[in-house]
Parts: sequence; structure tokens; C-alpha cells
Amino acid sequence: MKMCLETIRVTLARIDKPPAFMEVCGTHTMSAFRSGLRSILPSGISLLSGPGCPVCVTPSGYVEQAVALSENKDVIITTFGDLLRVPGQNGSLEKARARGGDIRVVYSPLDALALAKQETKREVVFLGVGFETTTPAIAGTIKLAEQNGITNFTVFPAHKTMPPAMTALLKDQDVRVDGFICPGHVSVIIGYDAYLPLSREYHIPCVVAGFEPEDMVAAIERLVLQVAENKAEVENVYSRSVTQEGNTAAQELMTDVFHPVDAVWRGLGMIPGSGLDIKENYADFDSRKKFGLGRDLSAAEPVGCKCGDILRGTRLPPDCVLFGKACTPENPVGACMVSSEGTCAAYFKYGRK
Ligand code: SF4
Repeated sequence: MKMCLETIRVTLARIDKPPAFMEVCGTHTMSAFRSGLRSILPSGISLLSGPGCPVCVTPSGYVEQAVALSENKDVIITTFGDLLRVPGQNGSLEKARARGGDIRVVYSPLDALALAKQETKREVVFLGVGFETTTPAIAGTIKLAEQNGITNFTVFPAHKTMPPAMTALLKDQDVRVDGFICPGHVSVIIGYDAYLPLSREYHIPCVVAGFEPEDMVAAIERLVLQVAENKAEVENVYSRSVTQEGNTAAQELMTDVFHPVDAVWRGLGMIPGSGLDIKENYADFDSRKKFGLGRDLSAAEPVGCKCGDILRGTRLPPDCVLFGKACTPENPVGACMVSSEGTCAAYFKYGRK
């Protein structure tokens, strides 16, 4: 790590404009804060946090639809815990549960399927939120439900894919990024070749990194060297987990069950081809079809919340007047303060020290 930091320091002297690198994964954001990485980086590097927290980018309209669905007494909503406290215009799922909605936290979509087997007289809806990392498991669960003839289990899909969001950021005039620290978990599934089109078309260096501070420093070293040499290549410093082609079995599962659609991201708006919907041959397992849920997903923020700008890397949490005052992890106003991987939560926990 010491040698990497020295290379970064020496190379920075060859670069005219201080570079800004974005980590697009919430786990990287947390790791950088927890380890104090930002404080040991040579000055002159900006480390921005991007839209890599799946809960944070889930639009408020999705939460509102899930809250409305929880008022149906025939329905049990199942979800990963982080989504419970994300605010929608009509409150969060946690508040809906306090009002009597049957909303249960599960640790895997298989838990939701097991519940459907027990509660045969009710409909079990699983809130399908996440990136390429979680989508294969959800696809596998849908296939299992079909094979076992389970008819009271559906998934409400809000899955998203990362490369289209990175492309949207590069097209955004307000966003300045000189290189991406590409997400480790997502890259295990999609492989590092997935970033080649992005890197070539936008002349942007991309380096896949693991989650130890040493991994992130190694990625930053590679990015600084590429910027100094005016290169735009895809590199992988997480070779112990990430391959060129990724996990092809997981990719096949995803493409069997899901197909790409345009999707709304909180903070980034509609991004073409960035969502995954359930294919027609698995329509029986699609909550949207079963319950007639619409697609009009508003991405409105609570008044005063700057989550949208923070997810694009154009502002930092302390730029929000609510940060640490009206908005804290105990009383979150916006999604970026709710999730353990949210940038505002990371700043609150570690960044003020
Ligand atoms: Fe939104 Fe709270 Fe972050 Fe402000 S501090 S941007 S209100 S989540």
C-alpha cells in the first residue's frame, strides 16, 4: 500500500488538473470511510461516491406502490431490511407495518418462497430491489417457484444494472469523473469486459476493485497512471474474484427470467435499458401483472433532500442543510441516510471525525 501511495503522489505531479474518481459501489463507499482511506490519499484526488447503493436509487414511487400493496389484507410483503425505512411520499414500509400491514424482513428470496409454501391462502410478494449481484438469486427463486407449482409467490421487480447508470453519469454535463472504481460484487457476475464499451466510447479509465483498503488504493494507483498517460483502459485489480467474462451461469439465469427495460433511478431519472423486468413466460410470478401495478414511478425527493445530487457525485452530504440536523440515521429524511451503504449515512458515521 505504501508503494502504491507513493506512486500516486509522484504521478499526480505529472497531471495538470487534480483528478476526480468515482466509486460506484456502496460497499466501496463504506470501506473508504471505515478505513480512513480518504485521509491517507495524497491531496489532489477527489473521491466521489456514485449511485451504487440499491436502496438509495430505488425511486420513491416504487416505495409508494409497495406501501399501497401492503394495505391489501391478502398480501404479505417480504423485503430486505434496508428498504423498510426508505421514505416514499406516503411514508415508509416501516410506518405501513406499524399501521397493520403484514411486512416481513427476509434474508433471501428463498425465505419468501418458503413463506409462500406455508401461507398458501395468501399472496407473498418479494420486493426485488438490487443490482446484478442479487438478481441471479431472485431469478433462480422464480424458476424454483415455477418448478414447484407455487402460485402465491410473486416478485415486484425494481432490479437495476450498473453499466447503463455509469453511461448516464458520463453523459451528464454536471458530472465530472476522470475514472471509475468499478463495483467488485457486480463485476463478479458481469465480468470486467462489461466496461469495455463504456471505456472506449467515453475515453474513461475503469478499474475493478475489491473492498479492502489495499484493493482500493491499488485501483486508484492504476487510475492515476492511466490519467497521466491519457489512457482509457479496463483493468482488474480484483482478480481473486473477478474474471473477464464473469459468472456465465448467473448471467444465463438472469437472461432466462429477466429482460432489459428503461428504469427510473432516484437522483438520475429515467435511464434507458437500466432496469430488468420479468419476461412474459414468467408473468405469473410478476407482482406488477398480478396486482395491476403501474410503471409510473416518480423519483421525487423529500423537500430539501439533495440525495439526487449526492448520487450523481455533484454534491457532498454536508452540502445538504438537513445533514446531521433534521436528517440522521435515526430519523432519515432521504434514502441516502437510510441504507448502511448510503453516502450520507457513511459521512454521518465516519466523515465528520
Ligand atoms: Fe437527503 Fe438526508 Fe442526505 Fe440531506 S442528509 S441529502 S436530506 S439523505
